[in-house]
Amino acid sequence: MKNLLASIGQLLFPNLCICCQGYLSQQEKFICDFCEFELPRFESFEQKDNAVAKKFWGSIKTDVATAYLTYGKGGAVQRLMHELKYRGNRELGIEMGKWLGWALNKNDLLANVDVLIPIPLHNKRQRERGYNQAELLCRGLHEVTQIPVASDAVTRERYNVTQTKKKRYERYINAKELFRVNTPELLENKHVLLIDDVITTGSTMISCGEVLLDVKGLRLSLAS
Ligand SMILES: [Zn+2]
Repeated sequence: MKNLLASIGQLLFPNLCICCQGYLSQQEKFICDFCEFELPRFESFEQKDNAVAKKFWGSIKTDVATAYLTYGKGGAVQRLMHELKYRGNRELGIEMGKWLGWALNKNDLLANVDVLIPIPLHNKRQRERGYNQAELLCRGLHEVTQIPVASDAVTRERYNVTQTKKKRYERYINAKELFRVNTPELLENKHVLLIDDVITTGSTMISCGEVLLDVKGLRLSLAS
């Protein structure tokens, strides 16, 4: 009966693949198997010295820094990100968090990670959007890995993000104005995996990472 209702629902309100707009089967979620297979995975995902990790060399010390997918203009990932950020598709965020979790697990990249922290949005932005997409990713990641999420560990004090070209000291001061660690004592000697939806210049991750690295004994990894 449940299946029958689902089938009727599918006839009336067909689920379409976010990427190709084709019909989805009942087993497929958000994107069809073909599009999922074709998603542009970040090829050096599991390598320590991948292109994402290199963005942070010379600015912050990271254990693992990686991304699951690569972003191309007009491509499937852009469509997914648009759906996640601007169309309120929270379930998709959780699902994408699971993708990241499966990939990290498979490559054994989560060894010793104690806690997941989403890059916080500024309060105002979060109220406008109603959710923080990085936090949704963390929730999916948690479902796969069981690693706890500390959503309130860091808050964003200001809107703007520092420039990567700034001098190290200026950048540090800027970071301190942008992000605040609320409960440093709970993060002492912990391995934190900081999560964002995208890494472009890396400046958001660097700013947030800098304030986290002030916590005693904290080890930092980054993923998007
Ligand atoms: Zn598709």
